Amino acid sequence: MGPPPSRMMDHAPTTQPQFHPPMPAATTPRFMDQALAEAAAAAQAGEVPVGAVIVDGTSGRVLARAHNRVETDRDPTAHAELLAIRAAAAALGENARGKALTGCDLYVTLEPCPMCAQAIAFARLRRVYWGADDPKGGGVEHGPRIFEQPSCHHAPELYPGIGERQAATLLKDFFKARR
Ligand code: ZN
Repeated sequence: MGPPPSRMMDHAPTTQPQFHPPMPAATTPRFMDQALAEAAAAAQAGEVPVGAVIVDGTSGRVLARAHNRVETDRDPTAHAELLAIRAAAAALGENARGKALTGCDLYVTLEPCPMCAQAIAFARLRRVYWGADDPKGGGVEHGPRIFEQPSCHHAPELYPGIGERQAATLLKDFFKARR
């Protein structure tokens, strides 16, 4: 890896992602319940059921809720996480620090794909809580493990397995119904 480009100079050096053990079901954050509700809404709309919520970690204010809109928008990049990041940045507006979501936390029902993981790094989100693992399409614990790459300049704290059972059931039911 060469020296970082100048626009990256003010960024902290690459950090290794910290994985945290799953929390007991009783402490599943209420925000994941909102992400699961978004995922259910996605399934109703014929979208792969993935939902995301972004919360200001200090105030606990929900900045954005989104679900997959790939089919609805005819946009292959309209993943729940990307839509939530855009909406949260817009909601922060003037208060966004360097267009980043520093201090904000993402709750998403499925392990983020490589595209969304990179977007999470760009947004400098503080924590990522996710539900089901995605061995085939995930980019955090699987595939390219984006946060561990030298090209990645921000690694959030990672909390897998939050609301995992509900998230996996939504996905399983959706694909079963489509066969
Ligand atoms: Zn994605």
